[in-house]
Amino acid sequence: MVRSLLAVLSCLAVLPFANLQQTTTPAQPSTQKAEASFTPPDTIFGYRNPSLELRVEKDFLAVPDPQLAKKHLQVLTSAPHVAGSPEDRRTAEYVLQQYLAAGLDASIQPYKVWMALPLDVRVDVVAPEDVVMHGPSPERVSDDPFQKDGRILPAFNEYSPSGDVTADVVYANYGRAEDFKKLAEMGIDVKGKIVIMRYGEVFRGVKVFLAEQNGAAGAILYSDPWDDGYFKGDKYMKGPWRPDSGVQRGSVQYLFRYPGDPTTPDIASLPDLPDSKRTPPEQASDLPKIPATPLSYGDATPIMANLTGPESPRNWQGALPFTYHVGPGPVKVHLLVKQNYRYTTIWDVIGMVRGAELPNEWVVTGNHRDAWVYGAVDPNSGTAAQLEAVHGVGELLKRGWRPKRTLVFASWDGEEEGLIGSTEYAEQHAKELSRAVAYFNMDAAVSGPDFGASAVPSLKQYLRDVAKSVPSPKGGSVYDQWKSAGEKKEKEQEQPAHPANDMSPAPGQEPAAKVTKDVRVGDLGSGSDYTAFLQHLGVPSADIGSRGPYGVYHSAFDDFTWFTKFGDPTFAYEQEMARIYGLEAIRMASTDVLPLNYEEYGKEITEYVKTSEQKAKTQFGNQAPSFAEALQAAERLQKAGAGVLVAQSRPAGDAGVVNLVLRNTERAFLTDGLPGRPWFKHVIYAPGEHTGYAAVVIPGVNEAIENNNLTLTKQQLQILTTALNRAAGALEMVK
Ligand SMILES: [Zn+2]
Repeated sequence: MVRSLLAVLSCLAVLPFANLQQTTTPAQPSTQKAEASFTPPDTIFGYRNPSLELRVEKDFLAVPDPQLAKKHLQVLTSAPHVAGSPEDRRTAEYVLQQYLAAGLDASIQPYKVWMALPLDVRVDVVAPEDVVMHGPSPERVSDDPFQKDGRILPAFNEYSPSGDVTADVVYANYGRAEDFKKLAEMGIDVKGKIVIMRYGEVFRGVKVFLAEQNGAAGAILYSDPWDDGYFKGDKYMKGPWRPDSGVQRGSVQYLFRYPGDPTTPDIASLPDLPDSKRTPPEQASDLPKIPATPLSYGDATPIMANLTGPESPRNWQGALPFTYHVGPGPVKVHLLVKQNYRYTTIWDVIGMVRGAELPNEWVVTGNHRDAWVYGAVDPNSGTAAQLEAVHGVGELLKRGWRPKRTLVFASWDGEEEGLIGSTEYAEQHAKELSRAVAYFNMDAAVSGPDFGASAVPSLKQYLRDVAKSVPSPKGGSVYDQWKSAGEKKEKEQEQPAHPANDMSPAPGQEPAAKVTKDVRVGDLGSGSDYTAFLQHLGVPSADIGSRGPYGVYHSAFDDFTWFTKFGDPTFAYEQEMARIYGLEAIRMASTDVLPLNYEEYGKEITEYVKTSEQKAKTQFGNQAPSFAEALQAAERLQKAGAGVLVAQSRPAGDAGVVNLVLRNTERAFLTDGLPGRPWFKHVIYAPGEHTGYAAVVIPGVNEAIENNNLTLTKQQLQILTTALNRAAGALEMVK
């Protein structure tokens, strides 16, 4: 369905938010029963005398309330609230009100950023004559009460340029580098064609980037039922999976170049920033040049069913009921995208609790608030949990508690467009953040009951410890459940698995290196707001979420009805996530010795270097450079990390030096920037140029090998070795 912006604007109704009473209601009986089987540990790593902290944490854990989380979610998802809209502004005011009620020093921080909203999107089949499809069709299921709101924008890809293309269609599977390579081997030329690709496996911006690189004239991204539709299980509203008309919106910004406002890499888009300080949008290197649009599988079916040419490789076959062919043609599509590009104001909300002893050391926690439509799971399940964590902090403040370090709670805007609110904030506060201790992210907090986390290796043990201190609605601790789920998964992996449900960036994917028998914590790639903190500024970061069957990602159906039917009907997992997220922050804020584990970090890097060495041997044969020095440096880091752990476990009277060293070690991994993308400064983690969501570890070296560039591989190996020795040298100063 096509709708003009005017029509959208004319139906912006004003819906005042209900006033929420922040009273503590008793926990639900089911939760109480599960909590009976839970005993928290009585020691905390990094605390000299944990008794006070244990009391504080107990008080905190009693506050987050499922019923209040439900009310928050209901308010936040009462209307579509895309970044920069009046409804988005009202969610900012709601969050501000909650921050202030809890006693935080809070305000709204606006930024003026370059963004687009769709004026018109059309996908029409124009040949063969007997095939009729005029899309995109409206998103409709039997009786979802939210689906007909006039403020729902047509599904579109943010940062697609405007364009008008009519061309033959070629199917390119997931649109990965290997898929385009396969097409070339089959003798299929995508030049001048519209490439149709299914969602999944890699970030959607990477698909459009590769289509553009291969000379395509346009791109269509559709959701195949194999990946998150009926092939997975019953579709919405009978089950949680994607219905025929459900569309995955989303940004196709080239965020592996740099995220944030395309016109201000490295600097903050403050409202008064003059245009002369901005990069003209047409020169921004993170914006696609070919038009792209998303499509439901309902609308994609007539296109896919009428492609001829060779049969697709068998593993390109999705779950639509016919044999897939790659084309080109005879299906011809007219793709029209009209975007309204302009500077838009977005609103972060920042709430602070000033540290009593070390106010210049910040512990930052964030969640984004803006959504493509209602955003019940993504992101407002996170916002609701964050507000209950803030509620808990508020109760502690009322009882006279003060954290040792400064706590910062952030409600980011414009994440969906390109991590904009968090990136601009990080660029604005780079100086203060150079002393930050950690950044804790939570995006889509709850889509089901399975806890997962990703983090830099120095924080992995910390996350396991926090999870041990929080009860699970399933009984025992979150850690217990996390561990047994991981063990079960390991066993089941002996059978052939279906493609993973990796339609969205999610914490808890398998890490690149497995150096412990303990619970696996994933690596940080990109796709959420930790990116600027970790990969631009070197702040140790983590991301958490609780996952389940979720087929409505970025569609109009990610709403309160879906959430209460399938996501978390009792809001018990909302409570769990509020507790974990809050505990991550308050425990870190008052720790005597920072609980950063550089032994685990060194072990993982050692594995990365070994894997990379093998890759280089395969790629370059006997020309391959020596990895001996890099390996030595990684092992030196591991050893130095182990040494510091001894000091950390028996903290001396003044832990100032140890903490300073620990605080600076992550920053020792920063360099002048990765080749061709100077904004990314971290030598250990970056979003993959060809994966986007998934992390590429030691990206400088690995991507140079992949690009068959021996000189660059040697250079990058040297840069990595220097950084590792710099970090190890710092840790060795602790005696
Ligand atoms: Zn999100």
